[in-house]
Amino acid sequence: MAKQPMLKFVQIERDMPEKRAATERREDFDEIYAEYAAAKAEEQASRCSQCGVPYCQSHCPLHNNIPDWLRLTATGRLEEAYQVSQATNTFPEICGRICPQDRLCEGNCVIEQSGHGTVTIGSVEKYITDTAWENGWVKPAVPDQERDESVGIIGAGPGGLAAADMLRRAGFSVTVYDRYDRAGGLLTYGIPGFKLEKDVVMRRIDQLEKSGVEFALNCDVDADIFAAIHAEHDAVIIATGVYKSRDIQMPGSGLSGVEKAIDYLTASNRKSFGDAVEEFDSGRYDANGKRVVVIGGGDTAMDCVRTAIRQGATSVKCLYRRDRANMPGSQREVANAEEEGVVFEWLSAPKGFTGNDTVEGVMVQKMRLGQPDASGRQAPELIEGADYVEEADLVIKALGFEPEDLPKLFGQPDLPVTRWGTVKAAFRTGATDMEGVYAIGDIVRGASLVVWAIRDGRDCAEAIIEKFNAPLSVAAE
Ligand SMILES: Cc1cc2nc3c(=O)[nH]c(=O)nc-3n(C[C@H](O)[C@H](O)[C@H](O)COP(=O)(O)OP(=O)(O)OC[C@H]3O[C@@H](n4cnc5c(N)ncnc54)[C@H](O)[C@@H]3O)c2cc1C
Ligand code: SF4
Repeated sequence: MAKQPMLKFVQIERDMPEKRAATERREDFDEIYAEYAAAKAEEQASRCSQCGVPYCQSHCPLHNNIPDWLRLTATGRLEEAYQVSQATNTFPEICGRICPQDRLCEGNCVIEQSGHGTVTIGSVEKYITDTAWENGWVKPAVPDQERDESVGIIGAGPGGLAAADMLRRAGFSVTVYDRYDRAGGLLTYGIPGFKLEKDVVMRRIDQLEKSGVEFALNCDVDADIFAAIHAEHDAVIIATGVYKSRDIQMPGSGLSGVEKAIDYLTASNRKSFGDAVEEFDSGRYDANGKRVVVIGGGDTAMDCVRTAIRQGATSVKCLYRRDRANMPGSQREVANAEEEGVVFEWLSAPKGFTGNDTVEGVMVQKMRLGQPDASGRQAPELIEGADYVEEADLVIKALGFEPEDLPKLFGQPDLPVTRWGTVKAAFRTGATDMEGVYAIGDIVRGASLVVWAIRDGRDCAEAIIEKFNAPLSVAAE
């Protein structure tokens, strides 16, 4: 009888790929985890208990067929593992790197709940697809037959790119419009290289170009351009994300040195590409030699504090008004940040900034947690008389994002939006009430996750393919 390759979670302990020492990773913007060696990946995949009803799969927004590709990996059938993995996910190596697995697939792994430590799903997913790239198994999609219809996609983030990939495979002409000079959206200019190295994103864009997707970059879509895109294409997908930074108005918020997180991260990512970035070179977005305070407790705040460390800040503090247990950011990222030298000031909220023209400090008020609010989380309450000033040369506000006013920007008063300004679109198709206009990703969901943008892009492409009666049997790679 063949040896049972799976269910090894009792004999084999959970083991992540090697993490570089904090002292070393503070010095560069490279990813912090190494790749599994083949034997290690097989061993870790073999821990899967092959559940009949796999909760990991149902809690993955893409419903990835995780137990199957783990089994194929454990038995050394990597090319097949890659085929199964890419059938449901357009960018598996990107999700494997940056999905918050502890809240999605891995957080729902049955062996995690039995106390044995989750299967390292994300790391195996990354390993499978990185190996596929190395071996040349990832090929540009060439459709069996070209179609007459064309689709215009506004926004080259993960949502827009996932839709572009599927539509192109089905033979549509696809043009992706983006205001930036590089495609990728937040994968390129938001998320730092230590979580997602830029060549991982660029090779995907290169592949899409090779499959015939056209990119119209440096194209900031306004009312005139929107009208032209709408007239030119049979369908239009809005995938513009959310970019308006939430702000706090308080004494001193106009001082120089009080900056928005997205501008700070974009400048840093541009420098990693080797671009000349005037506002970085002038020192405005460079934390080198500065005392940095970041305000916020989400993943954007975590990316800012860790970027500041790498830029050579003398100290980096993160102020968050709730405690560690109630923060929205990933606990894994907080742990990484602490290892790298970031200090967290929990239960601390800003009430203003000191300084004349340039910021010199943050006026901090201490909080305690009271009754739960509408979100179910305990609401922070002020502790009287516990204020202090935290000295700072650079303050970065990472307070979340809101949508731009798209009906106004695109000159389309009929484009339906919610009271939060996100575009109203049908569940599972992305169709809006405007004929032939679809919307996907963060501009529909509000600030969300890469994996959800990919899911939306795939669902929307499928709806368009169905609408035009194109065969869904898309071109093989
Ligand atoms: C700092 C940061 C870190 C994050 N980290 C993670 C993480 O670790 N894991 C995770 O899953 N998610 C993370 N997210 C969230 C994730 O990046 C987003 O949910 C995801 O990128 C949304 O994809 P999207 O395609 O909807 O939009 P985006 O990625 O925002 O792309 C939208 C694109 O539209 C373009 N655009 C906008 N308006 C116009 C216009 N008028 N004309 C032309 N082009 C336009 C933009 O230039 C952009 O390229 C992070 C977000 C931020 C800000
Ligand atoms: S896409 Fe994300 S949630 Fe789904 S299996 Fe991969 S890492 Fe887990």
